[in-house]
Amino acid sequence: MPRNGLLIQYDWCTGCHACEVACKQEHNFTGGMVGIKVHELVTVGPDKVHTDFIPVTTRFCDLCAERVKGGEQPACVKHCQATCMMYGPVATLAKAMEKQPRSSIYAPK
Ligand code: SF4
Ligand code: SF4
Repeated sequence: MPRNGLLIQYDWCTGCHACEVACKQEHNFTGGMVGIKVHELVTVGPDKVHTDFIPVTTRFCDLCAERVKGGEQPACVKHCQATCMMYGPVATLAKAMEKQPRSSIYAPK
């Protein structure tokens, strides 16, 4: 069976946090438990200040195993309006990543 993961494209992230909310609702996470967290990074360039939003998965991300078993996309992928995320076999994600700058693949196991 192929190893699956999430491809996250940082350039398109608007910092809306919908992925965090969708993940928490899907898993009924309470308190500080989150499957994904969007970080805000401000850097000062020579001519302007840049703000980057970096979604990072945590140890509690199970790639929405139950949802995916039922044929659905992971909650974060479905609810990201900016289509920053893609779910699928790591080999397929790596191919897509070749055309996407500033991106990363998360594959828990
Ligand atoms: S794949 Fe599922 S568990 Fe992982 S971050 Fe996205 S919504 Fe959360
Ligand atoms: S839902 Fe998409 S655009 Fe919004 S913070 Fe998450 S990854 Fe970024």
